[in-house]
Amino acid sequence: MTRADDARNRVPHLASGVSVPGPADGREAKAARARPCPACREADPTVLDSPVQQLLGAEHSRIIAASRRCVAVPAFDGLTPGHLVVLPRRHVPSLCRLSAGELAELQDLAERVRGRLRRTYEMPVIALAKADPGVTHARVHLVPTLAGLVDWLASRQPRCWQITSLTGLPYRLPAFVLVGTDAGPWWLHHGGTDHQAGRTLQIRQLLTELDNCLTQPAPDADPQTWQHHRQRTAQETVADLDRDARYTAGDDRPLEPADSKAGHQ
Ligand SMILES: [Zn+2]
Repeated sequence: MTRADDARNRVPHLASGVSVPGPADGREAKAARARPCPACREADPTVLDSPVQQLLGAEHSRIIAASRRCVAVPAFDGLTPGHLVVLPRRHVPSLCRLSAGELAELQDLAERVRGRLRRTYEMPVIALAKADPGVTHARVHLVPTLAGLVDWLASRQPRCWQITSLTGLPYRLPAFVLVGTDAGPWWLHHGGTDHQAGRTLQIRQLLTELDNCLTQPAPDADPQTWQHHRQRTAQETVADLDRDARYTAGDDRPLEPADSKAGHQ
């Protein structure tokens, strides 16, 4: 029996303390299961063999936190342990297409998870969202990092403005980069283009240049290297957050040494 088969036979399980209300719309959930969108599969707690779940194995849930219409899961290609994505369960290509209620809910979940990441990793957590033809399912990335991305963008991008909440997103905006820092406003960069370089903003690349603690394999790395990187990062994320949750819940067992984290082998 493969790991995926084994996972299908299990009762859905969640990270400690997480409960997931039923799907917002049964027809939508059914359609999501039929649709070959990886993010829809990640966002549906009843799917037990999503790409991230397969990285983690059956024993740990990918669902870090959830609300009625949104979930937070480890990023598939995490830049660092703690890199999460907050996804609406509804398939939309851009945050702009969500209702005000959905945006408020997504922001609320992102802020809650962000606070948890800050406590666990003891560093600022950048929130990032993008819309362009390459993004098929809207999401907000949360990355614990010291990268000065807001300052970098402000120095290079003439067309940006602040919004205090995701509900302030314009309804129609075909391409943008949205960056939020801890307790600050969101900075909305219209167009998502690096005007000085004359090309689309490569946010992943930019973050790794601004913070050399963030790592990812070289673009031409072999698939096995990528798979190992993905697996280790996702597993460390879940282990770190789970350990922190137990610790803050009153379980005063000493923290495990870093080299015993799940997935290091
Ligand atoms: Zn989707």
